[in-house]
Amino acid sequence: MTQKVALVTGAARGIGLATAKLFIEHGWLVAALDRDTDALKDALATLGQSASGFDYDVSNPNDVERALPDVLARFGRIDALVNNAGVADFGPIEETDFARWRRVMETNLDGVFLMSQAATAALKDTKGAIVNIASISGLRASTLRVAYGTSKAAVIQLTKQQAAELGEFRIRANCVCPGPVRTKLAMAVHTQDIIDAYHDAIPLNRYGSEQEIAEVIVFLCSEKASYVTGQVIASDGGFESTGVGLP
Ligand code: NAD
Repeated sequence: MTQKVALVTGAARGIGLATAKLFIEHGWLVAALDRDTDALKDALATLGQSASGFDYDVSNPNDVERALPDVLARFGRIDALVNNAGVADFGPIEETDFARWRRVMETNLDGVFLMSQAATAALKDTKGAIVNIASISGLRASTLRVAYGTSKAAVIQLTKQQAAELGEFRIRANCVCPGPVRTKLAMAVHTQDIIDAYHDAIPLNRYGSEQEIAEVIVFLCSEKASYVTGQVIASDGGFESTGVGLP
């Protein structure tokens, strides 16, 4: 039987690495894409023979243009695209200058658009799936997340556009909104006050794990989710739906 291929961006660590590992456990091959060359090398050592690394930056159109042919030359097909690569930013509106705003948009939003556009032809061939990783910060506003939250809200709408337009080609597109997970990205900006506030505001009273987010992503890429498209699924311990705000 032909093995399925998942292209996972930001696969060198955190949620992306956990997702790559889980795909492999489910029998998939993984194209692990990341711009952090050293972290990608380490990740490939843990992922083993079922994964190949692709050292590209999703925010750079020239990189994306080269990445897709490279992945297809290696694997010949793409059954799932997981747009997971992301950067965090916490800052007040008045201190978010244009360069800072663009840095966030370039990876979190432009990267999702560019990668999805470049992969669409291959996904048409396999009737594949797209999963975009947004955030609870794209669903609810809280202070200091003007660039990050706005980029993630845009990813949610981009997912719905993809589901609407690509359904006729049997491509499904869904979005996962993680709550807080103790990755490098989150822990660079989560102060103790933020950690305590999340514990209080989340009905399950804890951060999620990379594995818990990966389970939702892999499910959405699988045949088990064959009638699920255009959905925005929070994996957040109940934070988004309960109306309990961060102070
Ligand atoms: P992480 O920092 O642990 O991993 C992100 C990976 O993406 C890194 O390996 C990094 O090198 C890579 N990356 C960043 N920009 C890139 C680019 N332009 N091109 C290629 N690779 C790039 O972060 P994480 O917490 O695992 O985050 C994964 C996704 O989950 C992100 O989109 C993030 O916004 C989202 N998210 C995370 C949390 C959380 O609390 N950790 C919460 C909500 C949403």
